Amino acid sequence: MTIHVPGYTVQKLLGEGGMASVYLATQKSLDRPVALKILKRFDTEAQIRRFFNEGKIIASLNHHNIITIHDLGEVDGRCFLAMEYIEGGDLKQRIDTGLPPDEAIQLIKLIAHCLDFVHQKGIIHRDIKPENILFRKNGTPVLTDFGVAKQLQADTSLTMDGSAIGSPHYLSPEQAEQKPLDARTDIYSLGIILYEMLTGQKPFQGDSPIEIIIAHLTTEAPPLPKSLAKYQELLDLMIARDANDRFDSAADLVDYLGRLQKPASSHVLGKKIGKIISSTEKKTKASVKNPLSTNQTIKPGKPLYKPVLFGVTSAAILSAAIYFYPYLNTKPAPQENSSADSVQDPVRDKSTATETASALLDNNRIQQLLAQAKALLDNPNTSLPILKQAYDAYNLVLKMDPDNAVASEGITHVGALYATMQDKVDFYLSEARKALQNYRLTSPSRHNALFYFHEVLLLDPNNAEAQQGKSKIANAYADLAESNLDAFDYTAAKANIKKGLSIYPDSSRLLALRKKTNAFTDAPKRLFGKIKSIFN
Ligand code: ADP
Ligand code: MG
Repeated sequence: MTIHVPGYTVQKLLGEGGMASVYLATQKSLDRPVALKILKRFDTEAQIRRFFNEGKIIASLNHHNIITIHDLGEVDGRCFLAMEYIEGGDLKQRIDTGLPPDEAIQLIKLIAHCLDFVHQKGIIHRDIKPENILFRKNGTPVLTDFGVAKQLQADTSLTMDGSAIGSPHYLSPEQAEQKPLDARTDIYSLGIILYEMLTGQKPFQGDSPIEIIIAHLTTEAPPLPKSLAKYQELLDLMIARDANDRFDSAADLVDYLGRLQKPASSHVLGKKIGKIISSTEKKTKASVKNPLSTNQTIKPGKPLYKPVLFGVTSAAILSAAIYFYPYLNTKPAPQENSSADSVQDPVRDKSTATETASALLDNNRIQQLLAQAKALLDNPNTSLPILKQAYDAYNLVLKMDPDNAVASEGITHVGALYATMQDKVDFYLSEARKALQNYRLTSPSRHNALFYFHEVLLLDPNNAEAQQGKSKIANAYADLAESNLDAFDYTAAKANIKKGLSIYPDSSRLLALRKKTNAFTDAPKRLFGKIKSIFN
């Protein structure tokens, strides 16, 4: 394991998300297992901000269905979070093995409860998906990954990055449209999870992110099978495309679930009324913006038994429901019945949805490219290829969004850095050539050929001339050694051969010279040895 975090012994990789790797570790001081979440890539300013944001948000949320944070720190310039270790796997695995509906509902209720708590604190999670719901050993679900959570009142606007749309399956339509978000986006995502838990399928599918997003925006989730019909309304109220047609709050969702789990023991009539009202209301909800639905807003969202809806007695409700039901049932869909002031769903048609989805994906790609370019430029060991990569990243952004100010500033900046670095490379190369000519091969310090070639390679690892620098230096040592041999100065020749080989061990010229020199110098020694053995 190459990861070292002071105070912790890192044991193994637990999981990886879009942004971070999570390791199991032991916190030495308390001898307890923890999960260490460490950012994957170079930390950019925005990532660090997001990481601190995540730490602070989790720390502010003290709830038994929310992950507990122990520590936030930094090691080798990389941020890490130490959290409670959750060892029972995630909801994705549970969905894969299958869950009975009752359990699914109970789980949704717990998460809804916990989301209500989160929302009450003015925070929206924005990344509710099965991979972010873990289980303790005793089965308690735990909400994790507040990496893109947002404090609604906070004045900092955290930009979404790649991780935010890591999985488009759970993305709410308003997220796809890059509209301002509120708590109802989390309800939508939770609704998608509900659908998946009940049916084992994702309601909106496609072969690519763009297709999946378009499906969210233009199609209806396939209805639940008959055996699960009693959850259809719940689902509709969670995954309505228009947030106004969803539960207003997670608290309302919890109430609904409570009633669903414990059907009112009251009389059968009540149930019937409830049913009629709920289906009536559903139609009404679909036409909330229909002029026919009058201005007395029939608030969507609180179905089942809701006598207060019409504010009258059961009998009146019944008659109202009976009155409205057939009428609304035959009513054309609101968008076909458009009037001047009826608001149309802007993403109903496929081409608008395609535009919306590609705008989101482009924007997401742009954010990734900008973060990547910034990380490349923040790298202290920058070089021409690294600058080239940053340049390419900015260039791609400008292709997608020619007016992108960050990218055009970035490209100017990189261009200037590139020119300066190229000048340096040229300067070091010319100094290296001079040093070679003057046999300043490895000394004096910082003013020799080896030094200059090395400097070139740091800036431009692919520079062909500098790559051949060591063999050139070896050749120059060979020149020196040859002239030493011509002058019968074997000691100097040996020293030059040795220096040359220490820099370029494969130099065939130096290897040949070493053989030749050794033959000269070893001859008297061998002779001496022979004489000695005679006298012994
Ligand atoms: P990302 O923001 O990169 O998605 P997450 O916080 O979701 O990061 O963590 C990535 C994965 O690591 C999770 O899906 C889960 O499998 C694992 N993981 C995260 N936190 C814990 C934890 N506290 N205990 C055990 N495993 C965890
Ligand atoms: Mg995650």
